[in-house]
Amino acid sequence: MERIFGRPIITQDEMQKRVRELGNQITLDYADKNLLMVGVLKGAFAFYADLVRAIRLLLRVDFIVVTTRATQKRSVAGKIKILSDMAEDVTGQDVLLVEDIVDSGMTVSFLKKKLLARKPKSLKVCTLLDKPERRKVRVSIDYVGFTLPNKYVVGYGLDYQNRYRNLPYIAVMDKVSEAEELFYWQE
Ligand code: 5GP
Repeated sequence: MERIFGRPIITQDEMQKRVRELGNQITLDYADKNLLMVGVLKGAFAFYADLVRAIRLLLRVDFIVVTTRATQKRSVAGKIKILSDMAEDVTGQDVLLVEDIVDSGMTVSFLKKKLLARKPKSLKVCTLLDKPERRKVRVSIDYVGFTLPNKYVVGYGLDYQNRYRNLPYIAVMDKVSEAEELFYWQE
């Protein structure tokens, strides 16, 4: 029987190495700043948890929950909404927004606009994954984990219909047999 599953494209080892590099870079860049990290849920939860632990600073954490797309279709700007807002006051803070993936760019663009209106001292964006081929709006990203081709990926926080978020690696959605699926879980 064929099942929808993901073939690994970024392994756990590659992920850990890159997260360490990003953590070191952010530690240097924010050494004399007042870092407030904002994880964009749900997708960024795994990356965010690893990234904050790779930064050696007295940072503060917060979260924002936005609507995600129910399908693989492109997001529609008008449909992006904040489901649950941050608790911390952004005004005067050095804010680093942490995303799972930037695709059309609409979600990041929407969030940047919302947060900039609250007058942070600075606002930067870090994303684990970037799919620049699919960009619809221009948005500057300050830290990128991996640049990917135009494929739908799951794992390490990213979902397909709210599943596969617990895969410990990043995989491309594909049709695989049950035997292959078992193999990939054991990777
Ligand atoms: P954008 O607004 O940049 O088009 O899309 C950003 C959001 O779309 C991400 O936060 C994520 O929830 C979802 N998304 C975009 N591409 C992918 C993908 O390849 N896999 C998964 N699981 N979600 C994606």
